[in-house]
Amino acid sequence: MTIPSLFDDISTADSGQKRVFALRAAFALIMAFLIAQINLDYVESWFYDLRVATKPYTANSNNIELVYIKPTTVQTHKGLPDARTQEATLQKLLDAGAKAVVYDFAISESPGSDDEKNSWEASIVHNKNVFVATKDTPLKGEEKSLYLADPLEQVRTVPAPKTSDTINFAKDSVTRRMMLSYQGSTMLQVYLASLFNPAVLDLNNVRGNFSFYETVQAYIDFHRPRTFPDTTFDTIADNGADLSKFKDKIVLIGTDLNISESDYIRTPYSKIPSSMTRIEMQANIIDTLIRNSSPIKAPPYVNWILLALVSVLAIQIVLSMRPATGLMILVGTLFGFSVVAFAFFWLFGIWIPMAHPLLAGFLCYYFFIPYRLIIENRRSWEYYQKNKLLSQVEELKTNFISMMSHDLKTPIARIQGMSDVILSDVTPISSQQREAVDTIKHSADDLLKFINAILNYGRIESQGVQLHLQTKDINNVLQEVIRKHEFLAKVKRIQIVSELDPLFPIPMDADLMKQVLSNLVENAIKYSPEDTKIMITSEEKDDFVVIQVTDQGPGIPQDELNNIFMKFFRSKNVKSSPIKGSGLGLYLAKYFTELHRGRIFVESNDGKGSTFTVELPMEQGGLHA
Ligand code: ADP
Repeated sequence: MTIPSLFDDISTADSGQKRVFALRAAFALIMAFLIAQINLDYVESWFYDLRVATKPYTANSNNIELVYIKPTTVQTHKGLPDARTQEATLQKLLDAGAKAVVYDFAISESPGSDDEKNSWEASIVHNKNVFVATKDTPLKGEEKSLYLADPLEQVRTVPAPKTSDTINFAKDSVTRRMMLSYQGSTMLQVYLASLFNPAVLDLNNVRGNFSFYETVQAYIDFHRPRTFPDTTFDTIADNGADLSKFKDKIVLIGTDLNISESDYIRTPYSKIPSSMTRIEMQANIIDTLIRNSSPIKAPPYVNWILLALVSVLAIQIVLSMRPATGLMILVGTLFGFSVVAFAFFWLFGIWIPMAHPLLAGFLCYYFFIPYRLIIENRRSWEYYQKNKLLSQVEELKTNFISMMSHDLKTPIARIQGMSDVILSDVTPISSQQREAVDTIKHSADDLLKFINAILNYGRIESQGVQLHLQTKDINNVLQEVIRKHEFLAKVKRIQIVSELDPLFPIPMDADLMKQVLSNLVENAIKYSPEDTKIMITSEEKDDFVVIQVTDQGPGIPQDELNNIFMKFFRSKNVKSSPIKGSGLGLYLAKYFTELHRGRIFVESNDGKGSTFTVELPMEQGGLHA
């Protein structure tokens, strides 16, 4: 039984297919489990913030107005507005029909006499729609601490804290959550929101609520900073504001003095400490509750499922795809996943975890790349070894063939010589005997040609062919070749027509070129039917001497045109015909031509003859015509 490797190709393996996949999946799940142990709260929050910051649109209930005590207010009033001004302003807001007025700053710091403060205190305490917020959340039983100090000792503050991620989650002091209740007592923002949406008083109705230690919390559906309409305190106090806008609104009064960091929060939009004022945060919280639109964080099992899926995908990709394609598919998938995660947040307020799945994608990919490299390296080493062995065998074979061919040459030469002796002898022999000796001589000629081709092939394989360049006129070589083949042509009544332009001598190895051209002319004669014509031309074109051999033979089938220069290749048609050949002629011709930095190619229409073209450069390195 073979043990499946992670790397086995599951597309070809059949019975092992499931096992290999299961093995990969198991590795992926182990990776997923390990990755899940990494605390990525900070990164997850970063992705969350990005989704909040890029959210194109957030609805607004338009039920909240902000009133700021600004540095200009301090300037106008020569300090914080005193108790009398505060009381008068409160009265104006209530007269204008404000649904609720909330002080969210340290009102005890407002200057004024005890009488003035007591009077302000009375209008706060006796009006059920006026609230004073506190940042504190006292423990159960310590509610006493919610009362302010004398002379405002009757004012009971209501907890409305900010819940920034200081020691939990991202630990970056950004406010993303709101506290709805602490130890069972409900926070001020819930009361205020219930003025418009009473259902939220039952915290179970608040979308996305979750328990955290002894609190119930939810995420804030933020608006961009400065979304809520605001007015400066002094414009109301000094009768400069249009008070009708406060009708039926929750009015939040707070400071924007740039003195204390606790008056501001960091938001998903910006981590600058003063990126949003406290009352703007309260407005966001109240508005979220009125619209009941808290983002819902997907439960942990969603994270697990995504993590596992991405890990399996990444490992599957790295182990079975080509690196570039695999990386593209992985990046594409992760990008697609991110788009979906963003869309879910923007459209449905659902927070899909992104940090672990994205990290899993890249970690699994990069973790398994070295594994893949090791396996691939091992494979290429095996290929290399096999290749080496094959080359050695090939070399032995070539050497053997060369050796044998060489040894065969002598007996053949003897057969040829003896045939000549018999044919030229004066003693008459019968015509039958003469025919037999002729056949012996022709067969010996064929055999010699074949052996010469094999010997040349051996020389090529062992890189033993060297150019012996001499400057010569290729027309002379051509004429010699034509002369040599005239007899062969005549036997088949084939007419050889030559049109040789006068040429400059060029550097070449005449011996090798003779073999190239002989092969072309011989093939033309060999493969053409009787009573046809062969055209041989030579001319100068650009910096080349161009020789063409055109015949009216059977031509070469289109699908074989690319193969005829390959060693030992013979066309299907000729293999079944009596025409003899080794399949080496054109291979040698191409090799010898290219050794001259020339080109050889064929144009042929099946059934309509072929034209072989040889182009030789007029210059060979330093040597030129
Ligand atoms: P061979 O010894 O078979 O002639 P070559 O290498 O010279 O080997 O040629 C390879 C093959 O190309 C031949 O077997 C033949 O099928 C085809 N071929 C070569 N020359 C011609 C030609 N002039 N006409 C048709 N087919 C040819």
